[in-house]
Amino acid sequence: MSDTYNIGLGNNDTDTRQKADSDFVSFWDDQAKNLSWFSPWEKTLDWNPPFARWFVGGTINASYNALDVNQDTKSQKAAILWEGENGDSRIITYGEMLTHVKKFSNVLKSLGVEKGDRVTLYLPMIPELPIAMLACARIGATHTVIFSGFSATSIRDRVDDSKSKVIVTADGGYRRGKIVKLKEVVDEAIEGFDFVKNVVIVERTKNEIIMNSKDKLWIDLMNDASENCPAEKLDSVHPLYILYTSGTTGKPKGVLHGTGGYLTHLYSTFKWAFDIKDTDVFFCTADIGWVTGHSYVVYAPLLHGATEIMYEGAPDFPDASRMWDILEKYKATIFYTTPTALRMFMKFGDDIPNSFDLSTLRLLGTVGEPINPEVWRWYYKTIGKEKCPIIDTWWQTETGGMLISPLPGLETIPLKPGSGTRPIPGVNITVVDEYGNDVEPNTKGYLVVKNPWPGMLLTLWDDDEKYKTVYWSKYENCYYPGDYALKDTDGYLWLLGRADDVLKVAGHRIGTAELESCIVSHDDVAESAVCGIPDELKGEVIIAFVVLKEGVDTETKVLEKEIVEKIRTDIGAIATPKQIYFVSKLPKTRSGKIMRRLLKAIGNNEKIGDVSTLEDGAAVTEVQTAFDEIQKSIKESN
Ligand code: ATP
Ligand code: MG
Repeated sequence: MSDTYNIGLGNNDTDTRQKADSDFVSFWDDQAKNLSWFSPWEKTLDWNPPFARWFVGGTINASYNALDVNQDTKSQKAAILWEGENGDSRIITYGEMLTHVKKFSNVLKSLGVEKGDRVTLYLPMIPELPIAMLACARIGATHTVIFSGFSATSIRDRVDDSKSKVIVTADGGYRRGKIVKLKEVVDEAIEGFDFVKNVVIVERTKNEIIMNSKDKLWIDLMNDASENCPAEKLDSVHPLYILYTSGTTGKPKGVLHGTGGYLTHLYSTFKWAFDIKDTDVFFCTADIGWVTGHSYVVYAPLLHGATEIMYEGAPDFPDASRMWDILEKYKATIFYTTPTALRMFMKFGDDIPNSFDLSTLRLLGTVGEPINPEVWRWYYKTIGKEKCPIIDTWWQTETGGMLISPLPGLETIPLKPGSGTRPIPGVNITVVDEYGNDVEPNTKGYLVVKNPWPGMLLTLWDDDEKYKTVYWSKYENCYYPGDYALKDTDGYLWLLGRADDVLKVAGHRIGTAELESCIVSHDDVAESAVCGIPDELKGEVIIAFVVLKEGVDTETKVLEKEIVEKIRTDIGAIATPKQIYFVSKLPKTRSGKIMRRLLKAIGNNEKIGDVSTLEDGAAVTEVQTAFDEIQKSIKESN
C-alpha cells in the first residue's frame, strides 16, 4: 500500500507498552504520578459507562503543574517566545508567567469570579490568552475559549450556553495586516445578557473603543492586583474547560474536560510523541481557539517546562515565507502543524523553504485531517531534509489528547506516509463493521475506542443525553468517534475521513481521504475535496473540486483526463468522479477543515442561505468566494 521510512530517535522502550497492555488502569495510575498532586487519589478509575472519573478523590491544579512546579529550576527560562503578526515580539519566562497568572487570578476574584464559574475568553493569539486560561485554572473557574474569528452570533450562542460571568477580550486583533475589532463584536454579542458582569479588555491594537459600564481595561486591573495567589486544591474531575468543536460535521458540541485525567494524558503523550528535551524549541501552529491549541500550545508544553513559539497571525502573512522565517529565527527543533497548511506551503513551491536554514528541526508533526501521502513525502524531504520523523497524530476535541500517533519519544517504528501507525499505550482502538465486529485487515470500517482513557471528555456541557447518543449509542460500551478507517496487515491504522462522508457508489464504499489523496498525488494539484451527490442510476455519484498549484497553465481538459486516469489506476474505475471542478479555494472551517457537507449542498442545488450565520467559524468571505466560483463553474459546465 505504501513506502516505509525507517527513521526514529533511537528510543526503544518496550516496557511501557507491555505494562499498558497488561493493565491499562494501573498503567495510567503510574503515569499520573508524573504530576504534582496536593493529595493522592483513592481510586484510579471510576467507570460508570459512559461516564469516566479518573483519579477519584485526588486534588490537583493545572496552573500549579504548569507554572509553580517549574520555578525552582526554570524561572528564568523562556516559556513563550511570542511573535506578533506585525513583527512585534515578546519573551516571557516561567517566572514572569507565574506572576502574570497570579495577578490575573486576583483580578478575576475581584470581579466576583468563583470556583465553578465560567469565563469566556475571546482573544487573539497573544500571551494574555494562556495567562487568562491559567488564571481561571488557578482559581477553579472553567474557561471557555472562543476562536477570535467567530462572529457575534456565534459568541452569543456560546456565552448564553455557558452563562459566563466575565468575558476577556481585546480592543482588536491583527489578521492579514488588518485589525479585527473584537471588543465591538463582544458588545453586540452580549447585548441584554445580565448574567455577564464584566468585560475585560486587553489593548493589543490600540484602536479606539467605546467603554461601557461593564468594561474594564486589563492593564488597570493588573496594576492594582496582588502577586500573591495560591493555587486552589481542586478535585481531579473539576471541569477545567468547555470547548466547542469546530463544527465540520454539524452544530458545534460543548465538550467538557476535567483536570487530573486530562493533564495526565497530555503529560504522557507530549513526552512520548515529541520526546521533549529541556533544550527544545517547540512550535505548534494551532490557534488556541481549537483543542490542539489548548492541549499542545498551552497545557502540555508548560507541564514539561518547555520553551515554545507562539505566533499571532496568518501563516502566509506578509508572504509565504513567514513560517520558515519564524522557524529559522527561533531555531525551532519541533514543528507541529496541519495538512491543510502544508498543502498551502507546498503550493507555493520549494524555493521558499529552501532559502531558509531549517537545520535545527529534529521532529515534525501533523494533526487535524488525514495527511495525503504526497504531502507527507514533501514535508519529509523539503522541510525535514529526510532526517526528521513525522508524527501523524489522530485525535479529537473530545479525546483531549492524541490517541493514535507514532511515538518517537518511546519507540522507533517504521513510518508509512498517511498512516498514524498505532494507538498510544493504554488505549484499545480497533476497526469494526456496522455490527461492531472487528473487520479483517485491509477492510474498511469504523474506528472505535474500547476502553476509557484519561483525556476523554467528562460529558457535553449541560447535555449528558446528547453525550450518550453521539458517542456511545452506535456500539455498546465503545466510544464512537465518527471516523472511517482501515487497519493494514502490519496493524497500522489509516484514517479515511468522516464516516458520514463515505462515498457509496454502486455498492462500493470509498473513503473521501483515499480519493482526495489520489487526486492530490497528481503533480499539478494542490488540494482537493470530493463529495457524493444522489444519482438516479448509481445511487450516488462523485464530484471532485480541485485547486491547482501556483503557476500551472496546462489546459483543464488535459488535467481532467490525467486525474481521471490516475484514479482509475490507483483506486479503480468505480471511483471516477462524474465531474471535476477546478476552483481556486475550497470552503473550509477556520480550523482548516474542508466543509464537505456544504459542497454537497451546492452539488444538490440546495439553498446555502446566509453563510455569515454558519456555526462553523469559517472565513466567511473566503467561503463565499469559493461558493460563487463553484456555482459559476457548475452553471458553465451544465
Ligand atoms: P465537529 O465534531 O463539530 O464536526 P470536528 O470533528 O471537525 O468538529 P475536531 O475535534 O477539531 O472538530 O476534529 C477532530 C476530527 O479531525 C477527527 O474526528 C478526524 O476526523 C479529524 N482528524 C484529526 N486528526 C487527524 C489525523 N491525524 N488523521 C485523520 N483525521 C484526523
Ligand atoms: Mg468531531
